[in-house]
Amino acid sequence: MKMNMFRLFWSYAFLLFTLAGLAACNRQPATLIADVNVFDGERVHEKVNFIFNERGIHYIGKRKPRPGRYIVLDGRGKTILPPLINAHVHVAEADNLREALSVGVFALMDMFSTDERALSIRPYKDSLLYARYFSSQVGATPPGGHGTQFGVRIPVICDTLSPARFVRDRIHRGADYIKITQEFTRARLDTAQLSAIADEAHRHGKVCLAHVSRLEDAMEVIGCDVDGLAHIWYRKGSSATERDLKVIKESGVFVIPTLSVIKKLIGYVQENELGVERYLSMDSVLTEVRRLYQKGVPVLAGTDAPNLNMNYSDQFFEEMQLLTEAGLPNEEVLKAATSNIYQSFALEDFGVLEKDAPASFVLLDGNPLLRMEDMKKEKEIWKNGLRIY
Ligand SMILES: [Zn+2]
Repeated sequence: MKMNMFRLFWSYAFLLFTLAGLAACNRQPATLIADVNVFDGERVHEKVNFIFNERGIHYIGKRKPRPGRYIVLDGRGKTILPPLINAHVHVAEADNLREALSVGVFALMDMFSTDERALSIRPYKDSLLYARYFSSQVGATPPGGHGTQFGVRIPVICDTLSPARFVRDRIHRGADYIKITQEFTRARLDTAQLSAIADEAHRHGKVCLAHVSRLEDAMEVIGCDVDGLAHIWYRKGSSATERDLKVIKESGVFVIPTLSVIKKLIGYVQENELGVERYLSMDSVLTEVRRLYQKGVPVLAGTDAPNLNMNYSDQFFEEMQLLTEAGLPNEEVLKAATSNIYQSFALEDFGVLEKDAPASFVLLDGNPLLRMEDMKKEKEIWKNGLRIY
């Protein structure tokens, strides 16, 4: 009996050792990127060691690693950035998500889509090679309002569809946030409707943002308690006073200027003699963005692709460049493309690069903290510890 117990013990012990050994063999050794600059989403760490594996980030700092334990990559002259996000696009098909992630844009914030299209794209949201997809789905607009001109039937706010019902329908169908499209050249929602939309969105814990093109409309929707603007104002006569800026700052709204689309629009109108006098000059638009930034209003990077033939990939780096031309320091532009977006949209799956965070990042050949044009250089895209592009 005694002998049997003894044998049983050793059989178990042998099995446990074998299993532990197999598990150890299966585990990928961690990767160390040595001597690399890291922008973690909020601050810069210069020439540090960055250690990670598929389970997350292990270490960011100056400590010298023990030799022989890691796959070592040379990080000299390179910069690690957290997942970039394009805060204003319209996703046409799932391939757009792939195009975005191939340059390090880990999520696209869709700002108007039909419920059906959103439903077909949403299943890709967690696929390895695709960027995450977030969408407002249909924007809130009245009959004849902005968004109704594209020949696609969409629900509109009217006698038989209240603002609150419209919001609940969108959320029920999966909308991540609520978008209002308030455009003065078309039919518009009234103040009571705007407030009712924002209130209902907030009741369900959703962010509510609005399309505007004039300062006047921006001030109206801000008065109705929206959380963000999907464009900065760009129409003639739109120049914020100190008082406007104070109201904007105190309201806590964020602004996605979409300088890319405004620049292209003004260029197109000018070239085709379509009445450029109806718009601000590009210099004035850049000045308005600078004043918002200086006032402390969160600025978010977004392009409004695919409007005016913009792509979902490197156009985003043009937008970052335009934000530097508006006068934002490089580190602030990097925040505009990352942490300002995570915070404004309360995106739980995105955060600063730190110990135990997912190892999802861009490894860029260059230093955008010194030269924003470096954003266009060669890059490696790592997602959950795997190099995917
Ligand atoms: Zn748009």
